[in-house]
Amino acid sequence: MTEDRSGNQSGVDKLMKGYRNYRDGSYEASRPLIESLVARGQRPEVAVVACSDSRVDPAILFQADPGDLFVIRNVANLVPPMEQEGTFHGTSAALEFAVLGLSVKHLMVLGHAHCGGIKMMMAPDPGDNTFKYVPSWVSMLAAAHRRVLATMSQASHEARTRACEQNAVLVSLENLTTFPWVRERVESGDLQLHGWYVDIAIPELSSYDWESGKFIPFA
Ligand SMILES: [Zn+2]
Repeated sequence: MTEDRSGNQSGVDKLMKGYRNYRDGSYEASRPLIESLVARGQRPEVAVVACSDSRVDPAILFQADPGDLFVIRNVANLVPPMEQEGTFHGTSAALEFAVLGLSVKHLMVLGHAHCGGIKMMMAPDPGDNTFKYVPSWVSMLAAAHRRVLATMSQASHEARTRACEQNAVLVSLENLTTFPWVRERVESGDLQLHGWYVDIAIPELSSYDWESGKFIPFA
């Protein structure tokens, strides 16, 4: 077992230990389910767009089993609007696979508190040239971000940040409907869109209520 400079078990060693525990423990316990998923193929009912943040893993958060969730993760859990130009549309390709290939019944955008991507969008440092792709990626939120902040000049930094994180979920939901195969299935009732937001520090999970236009915490 290797140790890093601080004497801690290295991150990779922890993964190897975790894999052995999985192989000898929970894999054995769920072997019939996994064998069925291999034989029949995956048929998840839910696809979730979540942040790449290491603290917000949908499978852990929802205690999901293999085959339950089709997970798409990127910085700040964003869905870009449909674009024809360009070639490498990772998130759009995954959405297409989930909706057209797997016929998922639910598409969920999962936002979260303490999001580094949203922080970078709210306070870009023009003098810092470290990041090229992240500022460009989160810039899809810029217009909505300005609209949110225009109504919150008296609010605390924490409240403004939370509003931007939740608004990112709404922008992604809106962008989902720019894909015709999402729009058609929502209109026919074959696909439902959900906007959720989690604060793992509490923990508290909220869902966007389309009627009131607010995020309502789950009981
Ligand atoms: Zn995040």
